Formats: sequence, structure tokens, C-alpha cells
Amino acid sequence: MSYFIYIFGMKKFIELQLGRVYESNLFDNEPSLKADLEDVDFENFIDRIRNFAETKHSEIEQLHNRDDFRRDFIGDVSHELKTPLFTAQGYLLTVLDDSLDDPLLQQKYLERANKSIERLSYIVKDLDMIAKLESGMKLDQTEFNINATIKDVFEIMEIRANKKNITLAFKEANNYPILVKADKEKIEQVIINLLSNSIKYGSVNGSTLINVSTHSIHQVVVDVIDNGVGIDHKNLSRLFERFYRVDKSRSRDQGGSGLGLAIVKHIVEAHEQEVFVHSQLGEGSTFSFTLNKAI
Ligand code: ADP
Repeated sequence: MSYFIYIFGMKKFIELQLGRVYESNLFDNEPSLKADLEDVDFENFIDRIRNFAETKHSEIEQLHNRDDFRRDFIGDVSHELKTPLFTAQGYLLTVLDDSLDDPLLQQKYLERANKSIERLSYIVKDLDMIAKLESGMKLDQTEFNINATIKDVFEIMEIRANKKNITLAFKEANNYPILVKADKEKIEQVIINLLSNSIKYGSVNGSTLINVSTHSIHQVVVDVIDNGVGIDHKNLSRLFERFYRVDKSRSRDQGGSGLGLAIVKHIVEAHEQEVFVHSQLGEGSTFSFTLNKAI
């Protein structure tokens, strides 16, 4: 008898405590949990509380990660903007200084200030793009001939390639169209970024070859192959991180923002496709990405 009275008392006590929890605003966003108040099934209830706690825990973790990401991003951005900004300011202040009256020197410093401002504008342009990509990208997918798009990009990049006497060509002659389904403008950006890198880090008198081949029944793969400086194996895994550069001074000299490959990765992954790299230091690199064939 006293056992049953004890059990009954315990049950009432627990219900009372749970009632307080339910009446708090903790479950305001969990109406289904709150609805159970009238008829508590303890087995079920404990499982649900556990799930609820796990969900909240992972939400808090996500918020922490996002916060760390934002903090790192702001730190990286201000670090990247500082150098060209202060360099340009330094040259302009020198030109403004009354004691500098040599017009040739003034011209030289103004050109240097202009170069730093150009760098600033590359970085801001790429930052703008990455911010748009990270805040959710809408794809405008159409069917188009990837070979024709590559030819268009060859034309855009021709002047830059000529400066280093780098040949831009298809690896194998192909005059037939290869139809893919993707966001044409964004894929054009991917090819521009990869070709631009193959020139920046390519050897004088070298070449950049593009090959489009079948990857799977539904996919093609586009390879951008250069015979430039190449990348040491230990750096390959971090290459697609924003602001990661193997050789900082070479990247800066070439007008790099450190965001080109991060942009490539975002665009390719938004298409649910893959991007990969093979490279040998001193021999060259091949950057590849897949695309869905148009059916
Ligand atoms: P960046 O603006 O510095 O070129 P990216 O994100 O495009 O930034 O590339 C990141 C880094 O990867 C570069 O700084 C460079 O060190 C390396 N890299 C990219 N493409 C190539 C390539 N084709 N050959 C050698 N190194 C490359």
C-alpha cells in the first residue's frame, strides 16, 4: 500500500515539475511538445526531450560556427584591403608633398598608386561576388554548347595570354557542339577564373589547353591544363579556401585577390558538381570540373 502511495506521490511530483517546465516559454516554438502536457507518456516524453535538446545543441553549434566564420571573414577582408589601401595612400601623400617637384617621379608614384587602387577594385569585385554566392545563389540553368563558351573565354583572355606568349587552345581539335545544362554566365566565370590562373601562374611561352570529355553517363568533365609553376602536394587541400595563396607575393604581383578558386568552388558546388586539381611542382597543374550533359 505504502509502495503505491509512494509511486502515486512521485508521479504527481514529477508532473508538477514538468508542468512548470511546459508553462515556461521554453517550448513556445515546439507546440507538439507542449500539446503533450495533458497526457504525459514518460517513455515518449524523455525521447522527445532528448531530441529537443540535441536539436537545440546543434543549432547553437551552428550559430557559433557561423559567428567564427564571420569573424574570420571580416579579419581576412580588412587584412586584404589594408595593404593596397595604405600603399596607394603612401604614394599619393608623397606626390602631394611640396618637396617632390620631379614630374617623372610624380608620374611614377601616381602610376603605383593607381596599381594599388586597381588591386583594391579586384578584391572588392571578387568579395562582392563571393558575398552574393554565399548568401544563396539562384541558378539560371539553360542548355548551351560548352565548346562555344570556352572559345568565347579564349577571346576574352587572349590579350593577357599574349603578354606571356601563352597559347590558349583545345587539347584536341573538336568542332562539334557539346551540350551541357548549367548557368551559362556562372560557368563562363569558372572558366575565366581557371584560365586567368593558368596565365598568372603559367610559364612564359607556355600553353593552356582545355579538354572536354565524358565523365559519366550524365556528365562531362572540363580540364584546364597548364605547364606553369605547379603546386606542391602539401598545398593542394587548402587551395579552394578563400584568401589561401601558395605564394603570396606572386599572387599579389599578378593582381590576384585570393578568391578566384573559392568562387570556382562555390559555383561548381551550387550546380551539385565537382571540382578537382592535379598538380606537380615545377611541371604544371590541371584543374577540372564536371557538368551535367543536356539530355
Ligand atoms: P589568386 O587570386 O591568388 O590567384 P586563387 O583563389 O585563384 O587566388 O588561387 C589560390 C592560389 O592557388 C594562388 O594564389 C596560387 O598560389 C594557386 N594557384 C591557382 N591556380 C594555379 C595554377 N594554375 N598554377 C599554380 N598555382 C595556382
